Amino acid sequence: MSEQEQQNQQQIADVTDKMEQVILDAEGKPLSKKALKKLEKEREKEQKKQERLAREAAERAAREAAEVDYATDNYGNAKLNMSQQQTNTKWTEIKELSAAMADQTVHIQARVQTSRPTGNKMCFLVLREGTATAQGLLVVNEDTISKQMVKFANSIPSESIVSITAIVVIPAEPIKSCTVGDIELHITKLFVISKVVTGLPFSIEDASYSKLDYEKDPTLNKVLLDTRLDNRVIDLRTIANNAIFKIQAAVGQLFREYLTEQKFTEIHTPKLISTASEGGSNVFQVTYFKRQAYLAQSPQLYKQACIAADFGRVYEIAPVFRAENANTYRHLTEYVGLDLECAFREHYHEIMYMIGDMFVYIFKNLEERWAHELEIVRKQYPSEPIKFDEKPLRLEFKDAIALLRKHGVEIGDLDDLSTPQERELGKLVKKEYGTDFYMLDKFPLGIRPFYTMPDPENPEYSNSYDFFLRGEEIMSGAQRIHDPVLLTERIKALEIDPSSLTDYIKGFEYGCPPHAGGGVGLERVVMFYLGIGNIRHTSLFPRDPKRVDP
Ligand code: ATP
Ligand code: MG
Repeated sequence: MSEQEQQNQQQIADVTDKMEQVILDAEGKPLSKKALKKLEKEREKEQKKQERLAREAAERAAREAAEVDYATDNYGNAKLNMSQQQTNTKWTEIKELSAAMADQTVHIQARVQTSRPTGNKMCFLVLREGTATAQGLLVVNEDTISKQMVKFANSIPSESIVSITAIVVIPAEPIKSCTVGDIELHITKLFVISKVVTGLPFSIEDASYSKLDYEKDPTLNKVLLDTRLDNRVIDLRTIANNAIFKIQAAVGQLFREYLTEQKFTEIHTPKLISTASEGGSNVFQVTYFKRQAYLAQSPQLYKQACIAADFGRVYEIAPVFRAENANTYRHLTEYVGLDLECAFREHYHEIMYMIGDMFVYIFKNLEERWAHELEIVRKQYPSEPIKFDEKPLRLEFKDAIALLRKHGVEIGDLDDLSTPQERELGKLVKKEYGTDFYMLDKFPLGIRPFYTMPDPENPEYSNSYDFFLRGEEIMSGAQRIHDPVLLTERIKALEIDPSSLTDYIKGFEYGCPPHAGGGVGLERVVMFYLGIGNIRHTSLFPRDPKRVDP
């Protein structure tokens, strides 16, 4: 570019600059000098304002950075517990909290089910322990709870375990969303004991909704049964599941209590056996060194052996294995058997009625001693408590058939009841007799196992019984054949190879008292007692034809 050209360009630039400085008014005319001055002043004012705001923000940030967190001793991630110390701290369970404890300081260890911030000065936590939940609250104050502490509380991942110190306070309104709703915990100290470090497959809240909740709000998340079972550890944490397994344990405890009182002896029979206990194909084969063995389908032969060995009255609580490819709501391939066997003097009804009384004992005590757990389960799985008589109803099989036929069900005299027929019968019995629990006696001989004592008055029937709860089978039992000759006859009649039962038959050849007993499925009792629709909910880690994990 020549010198001249450069000069020309500079001139153009100067003119443009000046032109840009000429400010036009609304009508497009240049502003007067006065107006220009005013505008300039306004600009300066705005600039100063911006500078002041920036200065203030910087000062605030500096102040906050320098701000002493006066609550550092009251919160944080606790040191890894390697059992370094023992203090005399008295710990309280959430379940135990009540309005009577108002103003007391308590120490609690619980899971943070959810945390909900309210502004940056307040945070609500739902704390959960076993079958109980309570609301915790942190509010910034001037000396013990800092903003940083509230921020920390808000950042705790759901399902982490915390140790807290709190003051029990009665809230203005009861907290409906928590099981302990008449108190609130005003947290003063908060330490994380175990932090959740990975995403959960579903939230405990989603896993805790009832049918009613879904009816009210169909947009709520659903957790499918398979998802629950695949992640059973998380699923079992819901308060309803915690309660279900407290009730399952209670049924076992009450079974023991009652039978111990009746002078029964608890036994432990082998689960690895050389022959299928009840014959049939529903048996799991296992490799036993260089030969085959089976998993016990019931303790039947062994509990009878104990009667032949003069134990008099025996029971067992143990796993039962059934290789039934039954994908139903009430069959598992491994379940917990509550089994009993009992010698008697005159009539098997002595034992049948005693077992009936035992169930009444279990049902009554559950309602009385496990009322809290029942309430929790019924919130998620609503059901009416079962109806039963102090002396349970006894019906004969032939009368049940007549009742079914009267109501249009087609069934032969000696046919076994199908599941739908069982349920129909349950409905009819409930209508006619007002009970959810009854004993069905005198089953046809042909549909019972080989060891069942025939009915002396009617050889087509037998001294055997099933017990029903909400219309479904929970127990099968009978008088057993204790005479070796009759036993061998029956074995042959059913075309079972007697050589596979030599040891069993021998027990009776050496002499054995008359006896009767029964086998109960623990998961079934809990399921029908609670009115829950699928046995997988009442089995801790259910096994069915499709599932052996987790
Ligand atoms: P169902 O007719 O319901 O299949 P069953 O008559 O074959 O049962 P029993 O041999 O009489 O069963 O077993 C005694 C009890 O054990 C039953 O009344 C039930 O409570 C329980 N039970 C039997 N099979 C199963 C199973 N597969 N899963 C869970 N519980 C079972
Ligand atoms: Mg049965």
